Amino acid sequence: MRIDVVTIFPDYLAALDLSLVGKARQRGLLDLRVHDLRDWTTDRHRTVDDTPFGGGAGMVMRPDVWGTALDDVLGGEPAAASPGRILILPTPSGEVFTQRHAEELAGAGQLVFACGRYEGIDARVAGHYRDAGLDVRELSIGDYVLNGGEVAALVMIEAVARLVPGMVGNPESLVEESHGAAGLLEYPVYTKPPEWHGRGIPEVLLSGHHARIERWRRDEALRRTAARRPDMIAGLDGTVLDKHDRAL
Ligand code: SAM
Repeated sequence: MRIDVVTIFPDYLAALDLSLVGKARQRGLLDLRVHDLRDWTTDRHRTVDDTPFGGGAGMVMRPDVWGTALDDVLGGEPAAASPGRILILPTPSGEVFTQRHAEELAGAGQLVFACGRYEGIDARVAGHYRDAGLDVRELSIGDYVLNGGEVAALVMIEAVARLVPGMVGNPESLVEESHGAAGLLEYPVYTKPPEWHGRGIPEVLLSGHHARIERWRRDEALRRTAARRPDMIAGLDGTVLDKHDRAL
C-alpha cells in the first residue's frame, strides 16, 4: 500500500519511522511518503494561506497551492480517478472515523492525506477532486478541534496500517479486539505475575478450560461494553446474542 501525507509540518510525521509502521516501511509493506506543501508554493514567502472571503478570524489554506501539490502527488493532471486511490481530508467537520473506515481503507491501493492548518483548506479543493471522480473522504477523528490534520493523519494511518496483511506478527491478535466483528469492547486482559499489589487474576484464566475461558471473556466483554458504551449495545444486531448473553 502507498500512503502520501501532504503537510506544512513534515516533522510531525517522524513517528511513522517508529514501531510497527516503521518496520512495515523497512520491510517494504508500506510505501509511505511525506511531502512539504510549501514545496509547491511559488512566492518568496512560501505562502500557503490567505484571508477568508466573507471576513472573520484566521486564515484559510489556498486551493491553488493545494491543487498543484495534490495533482503531483496523485500522478498529474487530471487527478486521475484510479480505483483504490482515496484522498483523505482530515477535518473536525467530517464523518467520524471508526474501525469500519480503517477496515475499508486498508483495502485501498493509495491513500493521500491532505493535512489542513489554520481555519482549514478552501472548500473548493474537496469539490474539485470529487468532481474529477476521485474518492474523497472528509474524516474527523473525534468531536474536538486540533491545530492541524497531522495528528489526525497519524491516528488514521496507524489504525489502517495494522490491518494491512503482514503488518501485525500474529493476525489472531486482530480478531477479538474492541470494535471488531463482535461489535463489543475487548474483555480485560492479564499477564504475569499472577499476584500484584494483593490483586490476583480471575481463577477461570488459570483453569486451562478453553470453553469456560471463552465464555468468561464474552461475558466480560458484554458487561464492559454495557457499562462503558451503552450506545454499542443498543446498536448490536440481536441475532449475534446467544441465550446466555441475553441473561446477563
Ligand atoms: N475551523 C475549523 C472548524 O471549525 O471546523 C477547524 C480548523 S482546525 C483548527 C485546523 C485543521 O486541523 C483542520 O483543517 C483539520 O485538518 C485538522 N483537524 C482539527 N481537528 C480535527 C479532527 N477532530 N479530526 C480531523 N482533523 C482535524
